[in-house]
Amino acid sequence: MRVIRPPASASVPPNVVSYEEARARFSWAEARSALDGLPDGGLNICHEAVDRHAQGERAGHVAIRWLGRTGARREITYGELAELTSRFASVLDGLGVDRGERVYALSGRIPELYVAALGTLKRGAVFCPLFSAFGPEPVAQRLALGDARVLVTTPVLHRRKVAAIRDRLPGLRHVLVAGLEGEPAPEGTLDLDALLAAGDPRRRVEATAAEDWALLHFTSGTTGLPKGAQHVHDAVVVHDATARIALDLHRDDLFWCTADPGWVTGTSYGIVAPLCRGVTMLVDEGELDVERWYSILADERVSVWYTAPTALRMLMRAGAEAVGGHDLGALRLVASVGEPLNPEVVLWTDEAYGRPAHDDWWQTETGGIMIANLACDEIRPGSMGRPLPGIDAAIVHRDEYGGVRVVEEAGVEGELALRAGWPSMFRGYLDQPERYAAAFSDGWYLSGDLARRDADGWFWFVGRADDVIKTSGHLIGPFEVESVLMEHEAVVEAAVFGVPDEVAGELVEAVVCLAPGVEWTPELRRELVGFARTRLGPSVAPRGIEAADELPRTRSGKIMRRLLRARALGLPEGDTSTLEGAA
Ligand code: ATP
Ligand code: MG
Repeated sequence: MRVIRPPASASVPPNVVSYEEARARFSWAEARSALDGLPDGGLNICHEAVDRHAQGERAGHVAIRWLGRTGARREITYGELAELTSRFASVLDGLGVDRGERVYALSGRIPELYVAALGTLKRGAVFCPLFSAFGPEPVAQRLALGDARVLVTTPVLHRRKVAAIRDRLPGLRHVLVAGLEGEPAPEGTLDLDALLAAGDPRRRVEATAAEDWALLHFTSGTTGLPKGAQHVHDAVVVHDATARIALDLHRDDLFWCTADPGWVTGTSYGIVAPLCRGVTMLVDEGELDVERWYSILADERVSVWYTAPTALRMLMRAGAEAVGGHDLGALRLVASVGEPLNPEVVLWTDEAYGRPAHDDWWQTETGGIMIANLACDEIRPGSMGRPLPGIDAAIVHRDEYGGVRVVEEAGVEGELALRAGWPSMFRGYLDQPERYAAAFSDGWYLSGDLARRDADGWFWFVGRADDVIKTSGHLIGPFEVESVLMEHEAVVEAAVFGVPDEVAGELVEAVVCLAPGVEWTPELRRELVGFARTRLGPSVAPRGIEAADELPRTRSGKIMRRLLRARALGLPEGDTSTLEGAA
């Protein structure tokens, strides 16, 4: 097995130097004691992320360095962020928003979004981010599901997506528009900047309890209709601990999370976790662009970079040459989450950046990183790493009575389960108590992902339970087949899925995206089929391979295999509200 070892000596020693020791010593009580807490045992995410730094020597440190789409720059210190979030909280007071009521945001990565998210938490209300590229229907559906009271948005998004659906949402009392720049607020909306200017910069944090509802996150909808996962203020214990343990954040880091705040990663790690650690976080308003990203990494001297496999595959497609004259010397840790990270990509990042991508596994439901490749550990490319201190993960098999059996043997495939009870565990699926209850059994949370554990405790992703292919008595995880296809130099991305077959049950099919300049020919198809057969054996290798310019993916960048399957079979596509390109 190819293994990438951590550097023998690092100029910045990692926060965790021994996984085993950190795990043995860890307790949630101790992790919680790294936070401030509120008087009377309360807890509030905004206080931990912002106010406690603003009250100390960190007040003048830059919390957010914002890069506008067209070259504008703005820096907000912890002290300023504390005032801005207080102003926002007092605006909610003035609008009569109660504790626990939902405040939504529909906007790109503008400074007001961060102020609204944290200010909502400071007020003790519940924050729910929406992806700005959603069309009016998915926006209306999610606002209604969470019974939104307030929506923060921009003039353009209001005009394109909100104005037409407003009548259908009687519970939505206020729409606050940011960035009007002197224009009058559209009818039925309020000017957020004016409200903030009149707000109280000293509004104190609401005395929330650790178990109070704080965040509502809709899942990516990769496998069906998105679900609304509910998180409480106690989640901040995980955000803070994982930022230290998995993202290895140090006080002087410049941290860049590329995820959109419309998804859980963009909130947990694009807002809360880095601020808890008191670092400067970079926010780029722009979208993924190879040259722009390498310039940011180099010019801003990003030291910890949290991104996604789909972004790394796109950068890989552009080739190592694209790194060109950009000096990535400040980069200490590259981490990735959201999808399986193919071994090929890990090896490529190691070569092209001098830093291998560290895979993390978690979900909307888990609220924070659960399994990771730590900075101090060797990387086994293709593995998600090991469960973080405080997290018990296991491979389980369900029995016919609704219980589960923990699989002790190494190397056996089964469902990835986590022992219930970590602080950022979701506390419900909005309006779906039965579904929530069904996600737990015998004290385990069942993730719906299939994986296996090796003899040393590293976890390996097999596939989502819904995506796994059953063929001639075998269970095939798409990830393994996709990773092999990507080893071929003509292929940069692949998606594998099953189609029904009378004899075999299901047959393996693949769609590939080719490297730039490569032409799709019958010879290449034959070569790829042969290549896969040699590596995987005839029963696992795809029978059919097609080429496509793009793979269908969710807004959060995940390949939607269910759509490829439906298209191959001419079936209805199901819910596509989160499909990229759909608006
Ligand atoms: P839905 O539940 O609506 O189908 P989703 O599961 O894609 O959407 P998210 O919570 O955003 O919604 O994604 C979590 C899922 O992403 C995980 O369950 C897993 O399938 C996948 N995933 C995340 N990180 C990794 C990883 N490192 N390796 C493999 N898969 C991952
Ligand atoms: Mg899911």
